[in-house]
Amino acid sequence: MTEARSPIDAKTDVYGILGHPVRHSLSPLIHNALFQKLGIHAVYLAFDVAPERLELALEGARSLGIKGLNITVPHKEAALNFVDEVPEDADRNIGAINTVVNKNGVLYGYNTDGPGFLLALREELQVNPQGKSVVVLGAGGAARGVGFSLANAGAERVFIHNRTQDRAMGLAEYLEKHFSETEVHFLESFDLLKREKIDLVVNATAAGLHTGDASPMDLKLFSGQPAVYDLIYGSHETALLKQARQMGLRCADGRGMLAAQAALSFALWTGKTQGVRETMLEMLKK
Ligand code: NAP
Repeated sequence: MTEARSPIDAKTDVYGILGHPVRHSLSPLIHNALFQKLGIHAVYLAFDVAPERLELALEGARSLGIKGLNITVPHKEAALNFVDEVPEDADRNIGAINTVVNKNGVLYGYNTDGPGFLLALREELQVNPQGKSVVVLGAGGAARGVGFSLANAGAERVFIHNRTQDRAMGLAEYLEKHFSETEVHFLESFDLLKREKIDLVVNATAAGLHTGDASPMDLKLFSGQPAVYDLIYGSHETALLKQARQMGLRCADGRGMLAAQAALSFALWTGKTQGVRETMLEMLKK
């Protein structure tokens, strides 16, 4: 890798992230650092886009020749309607995208959250979902990607629990439709898990995002020793991860997934892969 710092000029390529809110995002930090490190003449910015302006924002990106975008909360599902093509079947099935590539005015949508999650799971917790029983907490965009990736990777049983039960039921039905090999259960009450051997718990809710948030579940109800992956990342340890650590369970926060999904987006835009994820992860863990 070469160190190079180029000033912004008329040839600078523009990338960015669309979200609402978006000012807390760490994506500009890690992508700009990689552009500099690899001597790529580009800049990555954060754009706060209200939901009703998403279509206009993507049309603007197309017109302005913005080379690539990440899409984050709350736009991942809606953005699918405003790109020209979603090349991967799996991304279409998930029904959400987090990456846009602009090739000569044609917008291609991808979802790197799912593969990023699986990579982090394998690297950080040494968990391969094949044949495993997993509890997924949440039923929003992230839980959808997580549920799809787990089923796609051969998970035997997936239990979905969410604060709003209808959403959990909807996600369970959706997964059942797509994956006949995986048993998918809507989990009304955690008490039902007392009889189950669970290998992995994934928190894909926003519970824990803020310091002092209560844990979305009590890990003490398990008789076994599940691994715990919390998608949340930040400066504080979530209550769920604190309990997992105190119980001696294998556990990790969402920084590994953040770095992995970002590196996959970076590869789609620039074709560069070598050392990218590792550098991003190093920056996030500082
Ligand atoms: P989302 O679509 O807005 O969904 C939020 C989910 O969290 C819903 O299931 C919601 O339940 C639940 N929830 C919110 N507050 C809660 C609370 N106080 N107690 C229990 N459940 C609560 O958001 P998302 O895109 O799925 O993101 C979810 C989390 O994953 C966020 O914290 C985000 O930062 C994180 N994430 C991390 C990565 C990564 O790379 N590490 C990638 C994507 C997302 P209801 O349905 O009842 O509202």
